[in-house]
Amino acid sequence: MPAIYIDLDDVIADTTCRYVEILEREFGRIVDFEGITTFDLKKSFSLTDHEFDYFFRLVHEPEIILELKPFEGVLDELNKWAGLGYEISVVTGRLTSTYESSLEWLRRNKVPFDSFIMVDKYLRPVVDKNIAISLDRFSEMEFILAVEDSLDMSMFLQHRMNTKVILFDRPWNRDSGNLAGIRRCMTWDEIGMLDQFSGILDSK
Ligand SMILES: [Mg+2]
Repeated sequence: MPAIYIDLDDVIADTTCRYVEILEREFGRIVDFEGITTFDLKKSFSLTDHEFDYFFRLVHEPEIILELKPFEGVLDELNKWAGLGYEISVVTGRLTSTYESSLEWLRRNKVPFDSFIMVDKYLRPVVDKNIAISLDRFSEMEFILAVEDSLDMSMFLQHRMNTKVILFDRPWNRDSGNLAGIRRCMTWDEIGMLDQFSGILDSK
C-alpha cells in the first residue's frame, strides 16, 4: 500500500506551544504563539546565542519530549488511514539524539506508524548520519500524501518529490500565498473532512 508522510513536531505533537511555556518558565519571557512568524526560534523568541543553545538543548531532553501532547484528532485520522491499509511514515527533522525518546513518545501516545524516519531536513551541524538520512536519499522515497508544517519542506516534497502536501497551518507558515499542489488545513478535523469529501488519498 502507498505510504503517507506525517511530520512529527507541530503536526502530530503540539511542540512549539509547549516551547512557549518553557520559554516563560526558563526566561520569564512571554511570547504570543500567534506572533511566531518565523521558523527560526532564536529570532522568534529573541534569544541570544547562549540562551538559545541552552533552550535548544533543554527542549530536546527526553523528559520534555515525553511530555509533549498530540494534537486533537490526529490519532483518529492516522488510525483511519492505517485501517484503510496505508503505511504511516513518521518523518522528522528532530535532532538524532532524540531518536529513542521520540520512538518512546510515539509508543506511549499510541500513534500508529509503520516506519520512523529521521531526515536531515534542516541541514543541522550535528547529525548522526547512522540515524538520519540526507534529503537527497530521502527524495528517492515515494509518498501518496504528506502532512507538514514547514513551508520549505512542503515545497521540497511537492516540487522535488511530486508529493501532494497538506500544510498544517501554523503562524510561521502563513506567509506563503497560494502554492500549487499544497493545501492548507487548520486542524486535524479539517484534514479528516477534506479526506472524506475531496478524496485527498486518490492517486496522483
Ligand atoms: Mg514540524
